[in-house]
Amino acid sequence: MGLKVCKFGGSSLSDAEQFKKVKSIIEADNDRKVVVVSAPGKRFKGDHKVTDLLYLCSAHVEYGVSFDYIFDLIADRFNEIRSDLGLQTDIGPDLDEIRAGIGKGADKEWIASRGEYLSAKLMADFLGYEFLDAALWLKFKYDGTVDEEESYGSLYAAAEGKRIVTPGFFGVMPGGKVKTLTRGGSDVTGALAAAALEADVYENWTDVPGILMADPSIVPNPKPIKLITYAELRELSFLGAKVLHAGSVMPVREKNIPLNIRDTNAPSQPGTLILNSISDDDGDDGNFITGIAGKKGYSVITVLKSGMSSDPEALLKILEITAAHNVNVEYIPSGIDIVSLVVSASKTEDSLYSILAEIQKVLKPDNIKVTEHMAIVAAVGRKMVYKPGTSGKIFATLGENGVNIRMITQGPEELDIIVGVEEKDFEQAVRILYNTFIKEKIS
Ligand code: ASP
Repeated sequence: MGLKVCKFGGSSLSDAEQFKKVKSIIEADNDRKVVVVSAPGKRFKGDHKVTDLLYLCSAHVEYGVSFDYIFDLIADRFNEIRSDLGLQTDIGPDLDEIRAGIGKGADKEWIASRGEYLSAKLMADFLGYEFLDAALWLKFKYDGTVDEEESYGSLYAAAEGKRIVTPGFFGVMPGGKVKTLTRGGSDVTGALAAAALEADVYENWTDVPGILMADPSIVPNPKPIKLITYAELRELSFLGAKVLHAGSVMPVREKNIPLNIRDTNAPSQPGTLILNSISDDDGDDGNFITGIAGKKGYSVITVLKSGMSSDPEALLKILEITAAHNVNVEYIPSGIDIVSLVVSASKTEDSLYSILAEIQKVLKPDNIKVTEHMAIVAAVGRKMVYKPGTSGKIFATLGENGVNIRMITQGPEELDIIVGVEEKDFEQAVRILYNTFIKEKIS
């Protein structure tokens, strides 16, 4: 028998109907023994997430304004779920304790954590699983990072061989004080639980069909990615593709545990499966591009100096200058005697001219120029490396469609081909790549 750790996000727990969907998912697979839950999210557009309301209560107390009206909204949400599902667990004393705690100016992180806490209590009752407070196993170190060893050991001891529901999003500091993760942190709790218990898979149930092959605000109805490696995912996330909390990848990746993103509202769909490596046996969707991502808001500093290629220290000197200004150089496409530095425009707003002046002084280049309003588009795909001519095809396709490529570089291990285009061409470039290489499957 196997073990699946399943994390359900806020929209999967927004009301009794969503709770029922969760139950049928859990009951459909006997291996789904460990469940991590978020606090109830929005039921409809314009609705509030319970966590937001909890923060709002805390802010009201801070400003000396009555929070009762907001707390009533929270209490109503939980009471409604409880009564709609006919649950026995009495959450009255918990709600009283939380209300009283907020009134007495309880710590903000404790207040924020109570959404997950109550959500898990109700879900445990509904599923007939044991409730396990995250305070009993998710431990932080004094420096605020998760103490993995402690946490893994504690969870293993408490949950081994059991069926449990545990709240996401928080744990405790060494003295026992509740500490929350950053927003969306239940994803991290799920990953830690999967790693602690060496699960066969970490299922992250949400309200989207998986990681999409392109940004849906640019490409209409992009397909979900079926299979992707952790390394590819990192490339896509770096350029803004958002589905998971960034901290949720490491714990499972380290232990070689597959991460499966699934849609609670479409449980028959396979979602996106993220693996350390993918072999031909794992299946193939016929696309050599796994996904397309990109971002606007870059500036490119280009430094040209004849003979620079034979100066082993030239690049070092340039990077020392950017580092001194705390500027992260995201890509460094270079050629003979020419180096380009791709930097975030917003992060260099205050330091750009000083950086240019210092490069000028230290390097005495023949030419130095800045190209602003640039965007980066990356075609990510582990299979590209085996396909000769891929980059040529990508450049040709963009060129034929009138997109001027201003810069070309490659990501690590030839996992992606990265092009710099003007911001005005950004959306078009993404659409062209998607339509050509994914929709029409030209390979
Ligand atoms: N409820 C928390 C939030 O809204 C954590 C989570 O849902 O993962 O950020």
